[in-house]
Amino acid sequence: MKKAYLLMVITALVVGFFFFDLDRLLTLEGLKQGPAQLEAWRTDQPMVIGGAFLLLYVLVTALSLPGAAVMTLAAGALFGLLWGTIIVSFASTVGATLAFLISRYLLHDTVQKRFGDRLKPINEGIKKDGAFYLFTLRLVPVFPFFLINLLMGLTPIRALTFFWVSQVGMLAGTLVYVNAGTQLAQLDSLSGILSPSLLLSFALLGVFPLLAKKLLAVIKARRVYAGYQKPSHFDRNLIVIGAGAGGLVTAYIAAAVKAKVTLIEAHKMGGDCLNYGCVPSKALIKSAKLAHQMRQADHYGLEATSPHFSFRKVMARVHEVIRQVEPHDSIERYEGLGVEVIQGYARLVDPWTVEIKRNDGSVQQLTSRSIVLATGARPFIPPLPGIKEVGYVTSDTLWDEFAKLDEAPKRLVVLGGGPIGCELAQSFARLGSQVTQVEMAPRILIREDEEVSEFAKASLQGDGVAVLTNHKALRCEKQGGTKRLIMEYEGVEKIIEFDTLLCAVGRVARLQGYGLEELGIETNRTIVTNDYLETLYPNIYAAGDVAGPYQFTHTAAHQAWYAAVNALFSQFKRFKVDYRIIPWTTFIDPEVAQVGLNEQEAKKKGIAFEVTRYGLEDLDRAITDGAAHGFVKVLTEPGKDRILGVTIVGKHGGDLMAEFVLAMKHGLGLSKILGTIHAYPIWAEANKYAAGEWKRAHAPERVLIWLEKYHQWRRGNAKTSPADGPATKHSDASDRLG
Ligand SMILES: Cc1cc2nc3c(=O)[nH]c(=O)nc-3n(C[C@H](O)[C@H](O)[C@H](O)COP(=O)(O)OP(=O)(O)OC[C@H]3O[C@@H](n4cnc5c(N)ncnc54)[C@H](O)[C@@H]3O)c2cc1C
Repeated sequence: MKKAYLLMVITALVVGFFFFDLDRLLTLEGLKQGPAQLEAWRTDQPMVIGGAFLLLYVLVTALSLPGAAVMTLAAGALFGLLWGTIIVSFASTVGATLAFLISRYLLHDTVQKRFGDRLKPINEGIKKDGAFYLFTLRLVPVFPFFLINLLMGLTPIRALTFFWVSQVGMLAGTLVYVNAGTQLAQLDSLSGILSPSLLLSFALLGVFPLLAKKLLAVIKARRVYAGYQKPSHFDRNLIVIGAGAGGLVTAYIAAAVKAKVTLIEAHKMGGDCLNYGCVPSKALIKSAKLAHQMRQADHYGLEATSPHFSFRKVMARVHEVIRQVEPHDSIERYEGLGVEVIQGYARLVDPWTVEIKRNDGSVQQLTSRSIVLATGARPFIPPLPGIKEVGYVTSDTLWDEFAKLDEAPKRLVVLGGGPIGCELAQSFARLGSQVTQVEMAPRILIREDEEVSEFAKASLQGDGVAVLTNHKALRCEKQGGTKRLIMEYEGVEKIIEFDTLLCAVGRVARLQGYGLEELGIETNRTIVTNDYLETLYPNIYAAGDVAGPYQFTHTAAHQAWYAAVNALFSQFKRFKVDYRIIPWTTFIDPEVAQVGLNEQEAKKKGIAFEVTRYGLEDLDRAITDGAAHGFVKVLTEPGKDRILGVTIVGKHGGDLMAEFVLAMKHGLGLSKILGTIHAYPIWAEANKYAAGEWKRAHAPERVLIWLEKYHQWRRGNAKTSPADGPATKHSDASDRLG
C-alpha cells in the first residue's frame, strides 16, 4: 500500500511537471531567457537562492526529470565555478541516491524475484566490482544518468557505495558543465560542451580503476608461484590425476585437441562409478527388481512366485556387468585415443611437477604446464564408538565382501537416508535382507521436496524396509555374538540388533596425501576452486567429486570439459562452469528424478513460481504396465511457460527427465513440449500431459467466452440451449492431443 502511495505521488509530480510545461524552462533557450532579475535576487539573498536551487536540483534528479544538464549550466551562470560545482555536486548525488532508493524500494524485490536466476551473474559481478562499474559509468556520460540511478537500484550494490562513488565519479563532468555555464552567453548547444577528446579522456579515466584492479588480481595470482622455480620447458601439456569420470573425460578432451596428456590412476581405471558406484549399484537394482516382479507376478495375471536364487550368483552378475563396462574406461581404449596412462600414485611436488610412485615400485617425475586433480571422494565413516569393533561395509567394500556370501545379510542396517542408502536399502530388502534404514534427519532424500521424501519412504516401506527417521546413531556394541546399534529417538535410547552394518552417510572428497597440504592449496569439504575450476594456483584445476558441489558422474564429466579447455586454452579464453541445469536421479523404484529448482529450493531462494502437476495414475502406458503411481511436477515462471525445474516420481523417471533437460537447456517452454508429437503409448507422454495441464490452467478464458458466442451465432442460436452441453469444458481427449 505504501508503495502505491509513493508511486502515486511521483506520478502526480512528473505529470504536473510536463503539464505546466516546466520542461521548456529547463532547456538551453529557456535558461537564456530566464527571469532577468534572478541575478539580482542571488546577489541580495545568496543563501536562500542557493538553497532553493539545491532543493530544486535534488527534486529534478530524484524524479528522473529531464533538465539536470541545463540546471548544471545554470549553476555555473548563477553561482560561478566554485559554488556552482559544490552545489551541483552535492545536489546531484543526493538526488541520484534518492532516485536509486525509490527504484530499489519500488522495484528491486519484484525484479529479483522474477528474474533472480537470470540476474545471478549480474548480481555477483555487481557485488564484486559494482563500485568500479559505477565509477566508469559516472565518468563516461554515455548512458543517461537517470537510467544508471534506476538500474543500479535493482542491483545489490550498497546505497552508501552508490552515494560516494557517484559523488566522486560525477565530479569531473560537473566541473566541465558548471564551467561552461559560466560562459552561458557564448553557448549554442549542449552537445558542444563535451568534445570528443574530453569524452575519450573521461573514458580512459573511467576504466583505469577497473583495469588497475584486474592487473592487481593478475599480480596476486602470480605471487603464489613465488619461491618455486618454473621449468623452462614442460614434459606434458596436461597431467590428470585420477581416472574416474572426471579424469577420464578431461584426458579424452585433451587428447582430442592433440595436447600431450598423461593420466595417472593409483587404483582401478573408471574410478568409483565403474567399480563401486553407478555400475554395480544399477546391476544390483536390476536383479532386485526382477525378484520383486516375480513376487508381484499375480498383478499381471501370472502366478506369483517366491524367487529361488543364489545371492552369490547375483553378486557374480554384478561383477560380470563391471567387467562388460570396463573396456569403456580401459587403459587400452585411452591409449588408443592418444592418452598416456600411468598406473601409480601421484603427488604434487610443486605447481608444475608431479611425482608418480608406479605400481611396479619405480618413481618418476613429470612436469606439466597444467594439472587437473580429479581424485574423487570416498565413503565417510561416522565416528561412532564401537563401529570398528562391530565392523561395517561401505560402497567401496560391499561388492567384494558380499560376493563371498551365499545369502544376502540377514539383518542389515543401512546408515543414511540419502540416494545411495535408499537405493541399497531397497535392493537388499528385495533380495531377502531384513533392512532397517537409520536417518537422523526428519526425512529421507532431504534434498527433495517433502512429498517426494514421503513417496520414497512409502515405496521403501512397501518393500519391507523399516525406515527410521529422526533416529540418531549413537554407538555400536557387541554383546556375546550379537551386534547392536544404539540410537537416540526423541531423547530416548533405542536399540536394534543386526548382522551387517552398511555405512552410507555421505562421501568425502579425497584431500590428503598427494601434496595439497604442502602446496597450501585451500580446501574445505572439497578443494576450493573459482568459477573456472582453478585452485589457488591458476595452472592447477580440480574437477569431479573432489571439487564439488555435486557428486555425480555426469557433473564430473561436465566439469571435465571446463577443466580441460581452461587448462589448455585459458590464455585465449576461460569458461565459467555452468551449473544452471543439473539433472539427477535416485534409482529407487519408482525412480525420483530432478532438474533445476524444486519447491523447497525455489522458496528458499525467494524465486516466484507456479506448480503444474500431472498424476501418472492417468497415463495409459503406466496403467498397462501396472505402475500407475507417481507424478510429474513442473515449476514455471508465474504466467509464463518457462520451466524453472521439474520433479518426476515414477517408473523411468530418470529417462523421462531427458526431455525437460533439453527443453530447459535450450529455452523451450511447456508449449513447445505440448506441440511435440509423442508416440502413443509411451511413458514420455506424461511430459506432454503435464504441459497440457499447464495450458489448461492458462487458457485465455475471455477469448473462450467470445469464441463460445461466435459458435453460438454460427449455429444461428441466440442463446445456448441445455442440449448444447458445457461448451467451454475441454474434453480429456482434446487435451491429450494438445
Ligand atoms: C553406490 C554409489 C552409487 C552411485 N550412483 C550414481 C549414479 O547412479 N549416477 C551418478 O551420476 N553418480 C553416482 N554415483 C556417484 C559417482 O560414482 C561419482 O560422482 C563419480 O564416480 C565421481 O567421479 P570422479 O572422477 O570425481 O571421482 P572417482 O570416480 O572417485 O575417481 C577418482 C579416482 O582418482 C584416483 N586417485 C585418487 N587419488 C589419487 C592419486 N593421488 N594418484 C592417482 N590416482 C588417484 C582414485 O583411485 C579414483 O579412481 C554413485 C556413487 C556410489 C558410491
